[in-house]
Amino acid sequence: MKLEHIGIAVKDLEAANELYALLIGKKHYKIETVESEQVNTSFFKTGSSKIELLEATGPKSAIARHIEKRGEGIHHIAFEVKDIYAEMERLRKEGFRLLNEKPKRGADNKLVCFVHPKSANSVLVELCQRIVE
Ligand code: ZN
Repeated sequence: MKLEHIGIAVKDLEAANELYALLIGKKHYKIETVESEQVNTSFFKTGSSKIELLEATGPKSAIARHIEKRGEGIHHIAFEVKDIYAEMERLRKEGFRLLNEKPKRGADNKLVCFVHPKSANSVLVELCQRIVE
C-alpha cells in the first residue's frame, strides 16, 4: 500500500489553504465539496503523496465532531489500494473493524473505506482506490 494522503481537520479552509501554501511552497491544486460527508476539502501535492485539508460544512459532519472533541489536527491517513473490495475482505478476515460495509465515493475521484481507529492504534485509516472512468 502506498501512503496516498494525510487528512487534516481544519476550522477555516481558506485560512488553512493560505497557511499550507506557505508551508509547502505551492498552492492547493483542487477544492472539492463532498455533500454526503458534509465537508469541503482541498488538496496539495507533496511529492508522491498529498495533504487533504478538511473543513466541516455542517454540524453532523465527522470533521465537526472531530474538531469539537480534539480540536484541529491530523484526522486520518490514507493508503491507496488497487482493489478496495479485496483489501476490505482481507482486513475483515484479519479481524480489523471497518466503518463501511461497502466502499463509498469520496473526494478526489476515489472509492473509500475507513478502518476503525480502535483497530489501528487510535489512527483512523482510509483505504482509497482511484475510480477509472
Ligand atoms: Zn482522505
